[in-house]
Amino acid sequence: MDWDVKSAVVDAARAMYREGLVIGLAGNVSARSEGRDAMHITPTRVPYPELMPDDIVTVTFEGDPVEGEGLPSSESLMHGAVYAARPDARAVVHAHPVHASAMAVRHEAIPAFVDEQVLYLGGAVEVSLYAPAASEALAQNAVAALGERRAVLLANHGTLAVGRDPADALEITRLTERLAQIWLLASARAGAQRLPRGIVEAETELYRMLQNEGGV
Ligand SMILES: [Zn+2]
Repeated sequence: MDWDVKSAVVDAARAMYREGLVIGLAGNVSARSEGRDAMHITPTRVPYPELMPDDIVTVTFEGDPVEGEGLPSSESLMHGAVYAARPDARAVVHAHPVHASAMAVRHEAIPAFVDEQVLYLGGAVEVSLYAPAASEALAQNAVAALGERRAVLLANHGTLAVGRDPADALEITRLTERLAQIWLLASARAGAQRLPRGIVEAETELYRMLQNEGGV
């Protein structure tokens, strides 16, 4: 059931690994299972190069098993909390990209500094309050800091991105990482400039309009 969606989860997960957005077994990818409060999510303890659609586990938003043999990702609660809070989110990618994680270690949001950031992500990328990996508190903190936007930094941990499908959520992860890299480079010396406030407000309105038209 939902073979195409599970394949899309596998494709995004393998690309995330290939591109170095995680190493080892870290990170996780999921997609909403339409028509029910459930999601298809990567399993724990399966190396990405060996991951197949049959390995993808279907669980409820609370992490209870629906279909599949393997153990669901340890961050199932966080993915489920995002789907429960954001009806527009169809896929979630959690990764540990180097530059975005460095910002998360600093508990420093990525400010709005290029136009595409506001249009695609909804503005600044905020940092969630710290909570241990895999905890219910992390799930709640991530949702709170994500708000209406499409990406969030998880304090002392990594990134979470939402999209219309797994490939889109992965692209949002790449954009977040690129923005973090640019901001760290730009702010290494005094003088890095953010977008003017009026521009951010106008582009945020446009982001909301686009959201309302077709979801993320
Ligand atoms: Zn993680």
